[in-house]
Amino acid sequence: MNDAAVDLPPLREVIARHGLDARKALGQHFLLDLNLTRRIARAAGDLSEGTVIEVGPGPGGLTRALLEQGARVIAIEKDARCRAALAEVGAAFPGRLTVIEGDALDQDMAALGTSPRRVVANLPYNVSTPLLIGWLRDIRAFDTLVLMFQKEVADRLWARPGGRGFSRLSVLTQWLCAVNPVFDVNPRAFTPPPKVTSAVVRLTPREAPLMDVPFATVERVTATLFGQRRKMVRAPLKTLGDPAVICDACGIDPMLRAEQLPVEAFLRVAHWLTVTQAGSRPSGHGP
Ligand code: SAM
Repeated sequence: MNDAAVDLPPLREVIARHGLDARKALGQHFLLDLNLTRRIARAAGDLSEGTVIEVGPGPGGLTRALLEQGARVIAIEKDARCRAALAEVGAAFPGRLTVIEGDALDQDMAALGTSPRRVVANLPYNVSTPLLIGWLRDIRAFDTLVLMFQKEVADRLWARPGGRGFSRLSVLTQWLCAVNPVFDVNPRAFTPPPKVTSAVVRLTPREAPLMDVPFATVERVTATLFGQRRKMVRAPLKTLGDPAVICDACGIDPMLRAEQLPVEAFLRVAHWLTVTQAGSRPSGHGP
């Protein structure tokens, strides 16, 4: 651990001195317990090589923990009020913290810093799903992602077919990553406390995806099938082609609902679409 961290003032004092009263619109629920932020940082493994990308450092509690573990951190923060507090953290770890002031949704995170790239963040819940989809889209750029979500969203990431929460996000995530629960976090750990329990999840990109199909096609198939999740899949499949042909080609029981299909079934439909529509579209356009 780097001794410089010991010299930094308690987070409660930092928040008071810089007037960082939490803003709901920015999903601000701060972690002030440095033992907890260290546990999150440790879940990302050895951080001494490459880059750690943190979304939403806020007053810098998790940022400190990441820097203490030897990381070089690129932190993206939308709230300009955090600038001075983060500058103090950066000064305690010279040359190791870069802060980008802006919206993480606008950043090409796959191009930030050097590899191996890890993402470690206590995510702003209002944008956690679009952020995750963005990382999944470019998953090869990332080594590990350790992310805090609302527990209900985390449950969707590892949900199995037929289980509660099995959804579009489960398929996209499990297609590309191994998903491991790390630990749950009680609302009381945050200032201010959110209404619900949170969970830290580790996503490890698979060496190869379960099937090599275009991201946009898997997105289209999952959106189509889960768009009518209460209906048997033969109904929503009509928008993609002849349901009988698709089910036959992909080994799918047309009477099942989307939430009962294994992840591979969505991928087989995506593969079928890619193959059958490749010849019927102008070249250069994905399905
Ligand atoms: N990392 C800090 C912690 O653990 O105490 C703060 C986490 S808080 C849940 C989420 C942080 O994300 C806030 O600092 C908020 O200002 C920031 N944030 C919200 N929306 C953002 C966005 N679109 N891009 C970048 N940062 C954002």
